[in-house]
Amino acid sequence: MRPSQGNGPNQRSPRSPLDVSRTREDFPILKQLVRGKPLVYLDNAASAQKPQAVIDALSHFYSTNYANVHRGIHWLSERATETFEAARRSVQRFIGAAEANEIIFVRGTTEAINLVAQTYGRTHVQAGDEILISTMEHHSNIVPWQMLCQATGAVLRVAPINDEGELLLDEFEKLLHPRTKLVAIAHVSNVLGTINPIRKIVEIAHRHQVPVLVDGAQAAPHVALDVQALDCDFYAFSGHKLFGPTGVGVLYGKASLLEAMPPYQGGGHMIQSVTFEKTIYNKVPDRFEAGTPNIAGVVGLGVAIDYVSEIGLEAITAYERELLAYAMDQLSRISGLRLIGTAKEKAGVLSFVADEVHPHDLGTILDNEGIAIRAGHHCAQPLMSRFGVLATARASLAFYNTREEIDALTTGIRTAIEFFT
Ligand SMILES: *Cc1c(COP(=O)(O)O)cnc(C)c1O
Repeated sequence: MRPSQGNGPNQRSPRSPLDVSRTREDFPILKQLVRGKPLVYLDNAASAQKPQAVIDALSHFYSTNYANVHRGIHWLSERATETFEAARRSVQRFIGAAEANEIIFVRGTTEAINLVAQTYGRTHVQAGDEILISTMEHHSNIVPWQMLCQATGAVLRVAPINDEGELLLDEFEKLLHPRTKLVAIAHVSNVLGTINPIRKIVEIAHRHQVPVLVDGAQAAPHVALDVQALDCDFYAFSGHKLFGPTGVGVLYGKASLLEAMPPYQGGGHMIQSVTFEKTIYNKVPDRFEAGTPNIAGVVGLGVAIDYVSEIGLEAITAYERELLAYAMDQLSRISGLRLIGTAKEKAGVLSFVADEVHPHDLGTILDNEGIAIRAGHHCAQPLMSRFGVLATARASLAFYNTREEIDALTTGIRTAIEFFT
């Protein structure tokens, strides 16, 4: 046995550097054939696959420790609550939050952003105020702010990007006004792969006394996080893109901000006492977790985080960077293919359009080869307009993807282009 680095019984020694064939063994879904060909799963930005540890954890939890949380006085409910709260501490460590109370469990990134818009937004934003986002945002980080603006008479401002898909920091800073109430920005773009310089963005915004919400849906699976070092005020991500279950996600908020925020949804568990005349709300994070949460989802997310942490985000980032460089190089050799998103700081998301082939046709032909990519606007229609396209094809990487899979993708794209020309 190799020496263990951790204290827990489940901690094996970190696999550094990442051993992809060993890692693939942990993902049963990758072993199957699709349309008679080995599955090549390159749609990780839409949702990532689940390791056996997560699948087993769900089954184990339902088989042994399941009950409602925070309610029962019975043994099983206490067990379930302990497991649930342990997951909160796993998330806290994973993102470097100062307190476990700063972790709020939600359905996903979408709900996390809506929560901030409807609570922080409703109490801090008035007519004539401004919310600043960027051109590369997912609809989840656009529409909630538009809804807030409609309700309050505030104005949505959009920081531009260059042709490589990088945020123009000078333009961004010029858009920060005394009436800017919040910056909401992606850490990693789900279309371009651009990694935004969040630390710098937060520094600039804070210089103007503006808090920052970071949409980390695409960052959490790929880059090591430290919300205290980033100094962001809110950070949102989804469990299902982080190799965890669907229907669970995280909103991190600085305790001082969360404590001053009104509740989002009303119901059970978010209260301290209720009479028909007056309700006293619970403390944070309970105040924001009305109703029965996705208990098993939270437990599964905790296990996914432990799994990813064991491999190590540094090893994952290094492996994916190398694979991305290979993929960019291979795709750039295909004539008639245009890569959209060529930022210097980039994570494993490759968007492209072919001169002669519609992205959906490209997707269909690749599907015939067992290769899963996504085609469409990727919930980022304003970004599509910025690049003058209606849709792109998108291949997105995870740490279980291989060079051979990139070769299969490249061959598939060449076949499609030949077929249509
Ligand atoms: C996927 C995604 C979202 C939305 O996440 P959900 O899990 O669908 O709530 C938001 N922002 C980005 C950048 C995403 O990639």
